[in-house]
Amino acid sequence: MSFLSHLECSRCHQTHDADRLQNLCACGGPLLVRYDLKAAARAVRPANLAGRVSSLWRYRELLPLRDDKNLITLGEGMTPLFPLPRLGASVGLPDLWLKDEGLNPTASFKARGAATGVSRAKELGVTALAMPTNGNAGGAWASYGARAGISVTLVMPTDAPAMSVLEATAVGAHAYMVRGQITDAGAIVGRSAKAHGWFEAATLKEPYRIEGKKTMGYEIAEQLGWSLPDVILYPTGGGVGIIGIYKALLEMRELGWLPDNVRLPKLVAVQAEGCQPIVKAFREGKDVSEKWENASTVAQGIRVPKALGDFLVLQAVRETGGTCVAVSDADTLWGLEQISRQEGAFICPEGAALVGAARQLLREGWLDAGQRVLLLNTGAGIKYPDVMTPKLPILELNATL
Ligand SMILES: *Cc1c(COP(=O)(O)O)cnc(C)c1O
Ligand SMILES: [Zn+2]
Repeated sequence: MSFLSHLECSRCHQTHDADRLQNLCACGGPLLVRYDLKAAARAVRPANLAGRVSSLWRYRELLPLRDDKNLITLGEGMTPLFPLPRLGASVGLPDLWLKDEGLNPTASFKARGAATGVSRAKELGVTALAMPTNGNAGGAWASYGARAGISVTLVMPTDAPAMSVLEATAVGAHAYMVRGQITDAGAIVGRSAKAHGWFEAATLKEPYRIEGKKTMGYEIAEQLGWSLPDVILYPTGGGVGIIGIYKALLEMRELGWLPDNVRLPKLVAVQAEGCQPIVKAFREGKDVSEKWENASTVAQGIRVPKALGDFLVLQAVRETGGTCVAVSDADTLWGLEQISRQEGAFICPEGAALVGAARQLLREGWLDAGQRVLLLNTGAGIKYPDVMTPKLPILELNATL
């Protein structure tokens, strides 16, 4: 059962009814899901988790769904977490680790947010939803929407990765393109959702996507035997993942699931040089970001010129003693080559940006070689066939190598 109690505005802290369909608070702030953590702590201990389902639903008590009959799953979560000894040695971080979200259904961690978001939307009576997307969120929400029998409408930039467009349309989404950024797509969705009565499921405009993504935090702790890494690097677009991981850390601490006086990991928001509004705000000591003009990067999942939850990302980073760093596309592609060749992990460009970021932070002396550093890779390399385009030699039929 779920210990869901209510929703709380992340900005003005007003309480909202969790059992009514909600978007933002009247003040414009995103709503966060709150649980009766005292009761949950009495009902479930880490030791109880051992025999449970190998998906994010193993943390059932800390997820917002009231009734299992509304649960829409494709087996998301409990992705592998493993060391990167060869890459770690070559960049000078011997205790480097990867959590590989590319193994999720729909090949990205967007499956987590879609599983909880779509399940809860179904529970609250949604029959049609709409959202802007750079690709992976659209593929994921369209897939879970298909399974739930909910109609999904997507608006995405014309240069969205072809594989995600294929995925979303294959599972029956109503998909449209716009010559612009995800923020432009979001404006169209906002207007159209009102006109048609669609539920608006854009990043942080509904409260439940973050609940799926927070389970990455629970899994990291459980998979490391209820210990935590010193640093977590996260490729930040809208920031749901990093906000969610921070939320999970605070929840686990309150639940008593972490060792006493545990130091929370320093959370690092990694962005691309060509779209780094949150990095800029962090450097300037600001609490919110300004829209980034002419955003451009190979790591399209983090091409978000202005994030609704930017202030929550900055809070998570500052309160954990983390930092923000921007990586050039050249360093991202270097990172992709290194992690692929040295570890056999063909990850997405967003995840590869973390390799460049780790090298940069080590050079600057922000990281040191003794730290346990975890790279949170958000998706699979195979979803981006255009990023690397090898040309193979063609052999004659009678050839011998
Ligand atoms: C969406 C996405 C991101 C950014 O996620 P946020 O939680 O919105 O910051 C990073 N990587 C990939 C592959 C994505 O699809
Ligand atoms: Zn509010």
